[in-house]
Amino acid sequence: MAPERAVGPLAGPLTAREACPTAASIFSRVHGKLWDDEVSIVKIAEVFHSVQGEGSLLGVPSVFVRTSGCNLRCSWCDTPYTSWNPEGATLTVEEVLARVSAYRCGHVVVTGGEPMIAPDIAALTTGLRTLGSHITIETAGTVYAPVPCDLMSISPKLANSTPEGPWRERHDALRIQPDVLRRLMGEYAHQLKFVVAAADDLVEIRAVVESLRAKAANVILMPEGIDAAVLRERGRWIAEICKREGFRYSPRLHVDLYGNRRGT
Ligand code: SF4
Repeated sequence: MAPERAVGPLAGPLTAREACPTAASIFSRVHGKLWDDEVSIVKIAEVFHSVQGEGSLLGVPSVFVRTSGCNLRCSWCDTPYTSWNPEGATLTVEEVLARVSAYRCGHVVVTGGEPMIAPDIAALTTGLRTLGSHITIETAGTVYAPVPCDLMSISPKLANSTPEGPWRERHDALRIQPDVLRRLMGEYAHQLKFVVAAADDLVEIRAVVESLRAKAANVILMPEGIDAAVLRERGRWIAEICKREGFRYSPRLHVDLYGNRRGT
């Protein structure tokens, strides 16, 4: 069955072959597929150009490829259009590469949703590798997939993420997967990014960090929230925790700069 064409802001006339013929050709050879008779597809919520708002690459201009679909349902999810109510268009990897190439940007962030559950995530990241981009993958760390990646940005979900209602049990059972976390940490340069809503979240953070034997330098605490005033208030006491524990503090720069808006 032919993949759906992109609609709305994802629509466009260029194919990857047109936008970046070299990358398309390398991708074909590396991935071992022919563009026209065997097509890798990914459900994409949005592709946009911004600055990285979180973590160790804070402020770095990056193209964001946001896959749609998630195996978790965080109560405070800030992209419900990729989890609770997934939206998006099914694009070929070729079409995604065309979108990314158009920005001529050296950093790509594959985010979600949960990108590691996308069936063709390996094809997508292999294609991005042919563009020569630095690749960050943002994942909750519940699923392993062998993917080309320069920074595995893992955000294990704490108990503060568990929703009330029918998803409660499933979310809670899945949110921390120690074997997957260890494998990702063992195979990739990584950061562990925890979303903090209350001071006593530190008890669970310490337990996860100790059980994974994670280095404090790779642990980043970030305030939960989608409102700049809330983030600022939480940021003050979270920064104190970071000073005490040797963890790193991250703001949510994109919320400060642009508010809680899509495409930023
Ligand atoms: S893992 Fe991310 S995308 Fe999925 S529900 Fe939680 S915050 Fe939303």
